[in-house]
Amino acid sequence: MVMLMSLQQAYDYIVIGAGSAGCVMANRLSEDPNSSVLLLEAGNKDSNPWIHVPIGYFKTMHNPNTDWCYKTEPDPGINGRRLEWPRGKVLGAPAL
Ligand SMILES: Cc1cc2nc3c(=O)[nH]c(=O)nc-3n(C[C@H](O)[C@H](O)[C@H](O)COP(=O)(O)OP(=O)(O)OC[C@H]3O[C@@H](n4cnc5c(N)ncnc54)[C@H](O)[C@@H]3O)c2cc1C
Repeated sequence: MVMLMSLQQAYDYIVIGAGSAGCVMANRLSEDPNSSVLLLEAGNKDSNPWIHVPIGYFKTMHNPNTDWCYKTEPDPGINGRRLEWPRGKVLGAPAL
């Protein structure tokens, strides 16, 4: 909490999550040279080579380094099974 308060004093804007929306927002906000912007991302850099290969995201799904590894709740319509629900956890998440 103390750290967040000191960050709030140090930056004009704090953007949480460097995915599609967060990167665009941070980029736009940082166009103003008088504003300081902090972009925070829970995931790693996009250094996994599969991220940069077309359809390579199939190789990054279910990997906790690049995917939050969420699952749906058990669904009675599919005999109680849970489906995997990939969400990118990496800088620039849309590439996953
Ligand atoms: C496998 C897969 C393939 C896809 N393919 C396509 C495609 O081909 N074309 C297309 O248009 N869309 C595609 N999508 C959908 C697209 O990725 C999403 O609609 C889009 O990325 C959503 O943007 P967003 O900014 O809302 O969230 P995201 O891009 O998911 O960004 C959220 C970011 O916030 C970070 N984050 C979350 N919680 C925290 C926290 N507490 N602290 C810090 N950081 C945090 C996450 O790690 C993530 O980087 C795909 C999605 C998946 C999962």
